[in-house]
Amino acid sequence: MEPISTTYVAVLLLASLSVVTTLAGVALAIYIGKNERAIALGIGFSAGIMLLVSFLELMPEATGEAGLGRAVTAFTLGVLIVAVSHWVIPHTHLVEEHGAFAPGLVRTAYLVAFGLILHDIPEGFAMANSYIASPSLGVLVGLAIAIHNLPEEFAMAVPIVMVKKKRFLYAAAFLSGLAEPLGAMIGLVAVHFHPMLNPLFMAFAAGAMVFVSVHELLPMARRYHKIALFALGMAISVVIYALLALAIPE
Ligand SMILES: [Zn+2]
Repeated sequence: MEPISTTYVAVLLLASLSVVTTLAGVALAIYIGKNERAIALGIGFSAGIMLLVSFLELMPEATGEAGLGRAVTAFTLGVLIVAVSHWVIPHTHLVEEHGAFAPGLVRTAYLVAFGLILHDIPEGFAMANSYIASPSLGVLVGLAIAIHNLPEEFAMAVPIVMVKKKRFLYAAAFLSGLAEPLGAMIGLVAVHFHPMLNPLFMAFAAGAMVFVSVHELLPMARRYHKIALFALGMAISVVIYALLALAIPE
């Protein structure tokens, strides 16, 4: 394990990349607007990256360190907590169900932002806790998550662009982006006190990201009737991910 301060600095740098890509995604939403093909392609890519990180890196690492039983339990907990928070807090679905110009839209926009924040915190765990497992793994996961944020935030922000309040959008994006460094800090501090928590945080993050991919992103592509582009986006994510993994030395 690296000295604690190096770990903190490296993880915060990785997490701040995500703040940048989150803002870039919202800027794209403002300038491109509702391009359904771009959205479907982008969320396919985002979902693909999250599934690859979860099943190729986080789960094998967590299972190796904590055993299958504990890893699967933490994974399930990740699924459950995000699922419950999605049911308790109505968010993105509201925009589609009630139409873009429903009176409650601004409120909805806040809820969307909150939904994003909820899923960005486990992504912070993913990068921080995999960095603790091994710095090269942390760099791979951190870069992959930063890249996936761009199309994801683009897709999530498009429904809110109709509110026409750019300042609100950027503020929401910035807050949601900050959720990643916050999650990363929580992951680091928790492990500082209980090293055994590290694999469990990774498995928890995997559960949260798989849930978001399957419950949030796939249905969004279906609503736009662009499943083929979603699949193409996933295929592109596999190529980009492989290149990223090759470029980062073990
Ligand atoms: Zn995500």
